[in-house]
Amino acid sequence: MGTVVPCPQCGAGQVAEPGDAGGVVACWRCGASVPVAPAVPVLWPRVNRRDDDDDEPRRRPRPQRQAPVSAAAVMSFVLGVVSCLLFCVWPVTLFTSLTGLACGAFGRDTPSRKLAVAGIVLSSVGLIFAVGFLILTVTGVSLIDFKGGPKVPPPFFPVHP
Ligand SMILES: [Zn+2]
Repeated sequence: MGTVVPCPQCGAGQVAEPGDAGGVVACWRCGASVPVAPAVPVLWPRVNRRDDDDDEPRRRPRPQRQAPVSAAAVMSFVLGVVSCLLFCVWPVTLFTSLTGLACGAFGRDTPSRKLAVAGIVLSSVGLIFAVGFLILTVTGVSLIDFKGGPKVPPPFFPVHP
């Protein structure tokens, strides 16, 4: 039982017996001399590869990362929708939108890329609203007067009679 070595000239597979290790075998198709790697059986040796050998792909195909269901992308989308629906409740939206952005960043490298991008967009919109309401709250402006009374802004300086 030998190893299979490709011919550098025509690419035809050569069966090299253990006795041929470290030596050279003649290609059965084109007659070129095919070097056989010593001792260690190597199916596709890098050494002695000719640059004009275009029979074989130059690079091995990279193993694809399998992510059948991208939970991050789905989470990002759901959190983005929640962020847009609950934009008034800015403490909640601040949390959901930032989490949605993080999940979207993770989900972008998966097959569910479009879903993740949608989640990023929705989360961004929610975040903008949340920050807007945060600023309004901090600056003391209230769009809704819950007490129903007249709105009197607090005096900046105490007023002395
Ligand atoms: Zn050959």
